[in-house]
Amino acid sequence: MQNREGCVAADRNDPLAQYRDRFSLPEGVIYLDGNSLGVLPKDAPARAAQVIAEEWGEGLVRSWNTYHWFDLPVRIGDKLARLIGGTAGECVATDTTSINVFKALGAALDMQREDHPDRRVIISERENFPSDLYVVEGMIELLDRGYELRLIDEQLTLEAALGDDVAVVLLTHANYRTGRIWDLPTVTAQVHAAGALVIWDLCHSAGAVPVALDEANADFAVGCTYKYLNGGPGSPAFVWVADRHLARAKQPLSGWWGHARPFDMAESFAPAQTGRKFLTGTQPIISLATMEVGIDIALSVDEAALRAKSLELTSLFIQLVEERIPNSSLTLITPRDHAERGSHVSFQHPEGYAVMQALIARGVIGDYREPEVLRFGVTPLYLGYADIWDAVETLRQVLAEEPWNNPEFQLRGAVT
Ligand SMILES: *Cc1c(COP(=O)(O)O)cnc(C)c1O
Repeated sequence: MQNREGCVAADRNDPLAQYRDRFSLPEGVIYLDGNSLGVLPKDAPARAAQVIAEEWGEGLVRSWNTYHWFDLPVRIGDKLARLIGGTAGECVATDTTSINVFKALGAALDMQREDHPDRRVIISERENFPSDLYVVEGMIELLDRGYELRLIDEQLTLEAALGDDVAVVLLTHANYRTGRIWDLPTVTAQVHAAGALVIWDLCHSAGAVPVALDEANADFAVGCTYKYLNGGPGSPAFVWVADRHLARAKQPLSGWWGHARPFDMAESFAPAQTGRKFLTGTQPIISLATMEVGIDIALSVDEAALRAKSLELTSLFIQLVEERIPNSSLTLITPRDHAERGSHVSFQHPEGYAVMQALIARGVIGDYREPEVLRFGVTPLYLGYADIWDAVETLRQVLAEEPWNNPEFQLRGAVT
């Protein structure tokens, strides 16, 4: 697209254009941070109000039965399973991604301890989202069985890292910083060929990039719902376990919500036989009910059309930056190859932090990630081609003004 009119015309022909109206977007904002906190679905406030006023306010404790609160993590988990190519019973909506990494890792390590007791290595990526690595560190210390974390990076490929000492591989499908995606089915097969189990973190994929876990024969997966699934700040995450592992998988946070008969109030733990065993304690019903609105929207979208538009918008972003802001000190760190690109575009810039603050001051909201990374999330449900044009035009103006000389744009908040 060579000009703004071309982008406006592409918006008119966009088969997903009607989805924008399902979301509440503030005036004067181009929101390129849906990969950090998704936007508000228009139906979510009414759903939240109903859960609070009627189900809680009027129904009180009866609502556990009348409104089926107790089943909410499983019922929404079944919807999430459908979204990521799983089957009903394999997934529950619960807790945070970090906690679910802990549970999946504990279950995978336990299975491998029986099958391959000498395997003591957990592989992950140096570039992984740090919380995933922190959880592995904590697990290794807690178990105190001589496990070690082996990090793959530019020096150490996955192929080279895989060996007969590896128990579990924890990878994030779409990298949070670069947007690079792994070929999930191929890597899953590679990990299995080496005798290891794989846990996929789908935080930057669920609702953005098609995933087919059952077809890929994946073992475990986790992910969050407040990014591309528009579940709301801190909405519960999910954990998915392949059907074939369900009977055996033993998660380390055994609690009454994962019990086969929680209201027997039995003295000892007997796990449920479905994904429900990955629940621990009482779940945040208001958040769960509210986030279902965003998940229902995601389920109604044609996956192929979503992926096609995502790639068109990220490609357009890259093309416009390169054509309209040449010689800009912006370095693209997102793969150009479609097969390797998730749904965001990142550039490094030596003054990245100030550049992002100046963009946000003009209503173009992306985010900044260390080191020096400007990250632009592209959410095809509520962004169009003209939005991309306007965002790049604002970026061009901001860079021309060298905002890093303005102290206001150097100030760091607690959350960047
Ligand atoms: C966003 C994100 C998380 C977030 O974890 P929480 O426990 O929900 O805060 C974890 N892993 C990855 C890869 C992420 O992108």
